[in-house]
Amino acid sequence: MPLIPLLPIFHSFNREFFLGQLAVGSTALISVRWSDGRLRKTAGLYRRGPMVEGPNASEIVLSRPLLENLPVTAIESTLCHEMIHGWIDLVLRVEEVHGINFRRRMAAINAAQNRFQVTIRHQFPTPKSLPKWWAVCPSCSARLPYKRLVRGAACRKCCEIHYGGHWHPSCLLSYEPVLEEA
Ligand SMILES: [Zn+2]
Ligand SMILES: [Zn+2]
Repeated sequence: MPLIPLLPIFHSFNREFFLGQLAVGSTALISVRWSDGRLRKTAGLYRRGPMVEGPNASEIVLSRPLLENLPVTAIESTLCHEMIHGWIDLVLRVEEVHGINFRRRMAAINAAQNRFQVTIRHQFPTPKSLPKWWAVCPSCSARLPYKRLVRGAACRKCCEIHYGGHWHPSCLLSYEPVLEEA
């Protein structure tokens, strides 16, 4: 499924919940984009700094791996959360994380509609962690995903077929790291 474009949602939220203060005309004050595969620990972030490309050196990034398969309301809730951070930073010009301004605006947005709820923490299921290793059997070439390296483990199937279920060094698994997609 292609990723849904975030900018139109940004603009409609800006009109609906931020009095249009997060754009000048049709130009957003913050760049908004999907992450590549790497943002896995958090559903979204807002940041501003000299390293950030975009208007006002600020951007909102939503996690493609965490959000792409969730309902659109999860995307809306995350985007709206990060927009509140952007609004506090660029419009109110206050240093705050999830303080009084954040909570007030969040409560107002949650009261104004019932399509989605903005929360302090992003509460989404994180995808199962990927296996770190392929265990490869030298005898049958089976490749089994392993979370951690188990020294001395042998291919069960081959031990059963060839050695009556007894551990045998000719079925000793060797490990190859699973290369994560960037
Ligand atoms: Zn936050
Ligand atoms: Zn085997």
